[in-house]
Amino acid sequence: MGKDNVLILGGGIAGLTSALELAETGSQVFLVDKEAEIGGYAAQYCCKGLELCEKCGACFAPQALDQVNNHSNISVFSGLQIKSSQSTDDGFKVTFENEQGEESSLEANAIVVATGFTPVDATKQLAYGYKVYQGIYTAYDLEQLIREKGSFKNAFPSDVEKIAFIQCVGSRSDYPEQDYCCRVGCMYTVRMASLIREELPEVALDVFYMDLQSFGKGFVEYKNSCITDKNINFILGRPAKSFYHPLKKKVLIQHESTVDGEIYEHEYDLVFLAIGSQPGVDTKNIAGIFNLDLNEDNFFKCENSFNPGATSQKGIFVAGTCTGPRDIADSMQHAKAVSLNVIDYLKK
Ligand SMILES: Cc1cc2nc3c(=O)[nH]c(=O)nc-3n(C[C@H](O)[C@H](O)[C@H](O)COP(=O)(O)OP(=O)(O)OC[C@H]3O[C@@H](n4cnc5c(N)ncnc54)[C@H](O)[C@@H]3O)c2cc1C
Ligand code: SF4
Ligand code: SF4
Repeated sequence: MGKDNVLILGGGIAGLTSALELAETGSQVFLVDKEAEIGGYAAQYCCKGLELCEKCGACFAPQALDQVNNHSNISVFSGLQIKSSQSTDDGFKVTFENEQGEESSLEANAIVVATGFTPVDATKQLAYGYKVYQGIYTAYDLEQLIREKGSFKNAFPSDVEKIAFIQCVGSRSDYPEQDYCCRVGCMYTVRMASLIREELPEVALDVFYMDLQSFGKGFVEYKNSCITDKNINFILGRPAKSFYHPLKKKVLIQHESTVDGEIYEHEYDLVFLAIGSQPGVDTKNIAGIFNLDLNEDNFFKCENSFNPGATSQKGIFVAGTCTGPRDIADSMQHAKAVSLNVIDYLKK
């Protein structure tokens, strides 16, 4: 084995970014994903810009995929599930299994785990009636439908008059076991609402929120311009429940006003739930295989912020949303910092 072979587990935007960064500095990269297609969630989102780019970051994924697939220092292996890992004299020997149950191994001097997150399962938030009533979708469904159909207008009936977004679904106080902020819901809702406004200037758009978080530069100004210029109505408070009224053919949302404490009922044609992120489904299994620690929210634990992505195991690093909620740009930035740390480690 050469002295700088790196195995990257997970081909989402963090794994792709890490692969490119390492391959550019001469490392031989093995990028392994359990799915048949690489790209992760970021590759499934729609462009939120019509006339102008709205800086949602979704187009970074196809760009990175193209570069990875054409890089001579990167070998991609898809459809492989990790089974075990052994230490060797100069690194690790990791064994995988394909769908047919056949085993194969890869040897590497360092490993970057970039296995990502899982979107919150909105069927568990029973009060919102997701998958029980029609007219209620998650923001993830919305991303995929617009991407598939090419526009909001093509994805939904033409007679839509009123739309609501419900923020923080499955995050913060909505789900006590997971009371952290998803760090992306406010950003993607404002951009989605803005896209819908561009396509349907007459539609009424309400956003039910507890607190609007801004993690990116310029977000506050962007959000304020959406409120004033794009007529998006922000309503403070979390709806208690939503359900479909078959005679009215509307989704009804019951909401307690934070202003006067009264319960109000609102009618909508469509409701979108801004779901957050949970640790990836394989996180505990992978932590067991590599003997990695998890943090208090059950994502992979990083040693400290001065040592990006380093774990308690020498030679094993973690990057992107497998360490906690991040947006695409932040996942890429983190993966780049982690890769520089891997390069330092390989030099030593
Ligand atoms: C509804 C929703 C909408 C969003 N919209 C935006 C947006 O508009 N803009 C934005 O910036 N961010 C958005 N985000 C956040 C964005 O999805 C993440 O920042 C990004 O996907 C993180 O990339 P990642 O590579 O860390 O993880 P992932 O995208 O989860 O990729 C992880 C990869 O690892 C693979 N993997 C998992 N387990 C294994 C295993 N055991 N072995 C091998 N491979 C494995 C997966 O198959 C996947 O390919 C949104 C999030 C949600 C929930
Ligand atoms: S960043 Fe988002 S809005 Fe801008 S071009 Fe890319 S996908 Fe479209
Ligand atoms: S980013 Fe916004 S929607 Fe997501 S949990 Fe934080 S405040 Fe709620």
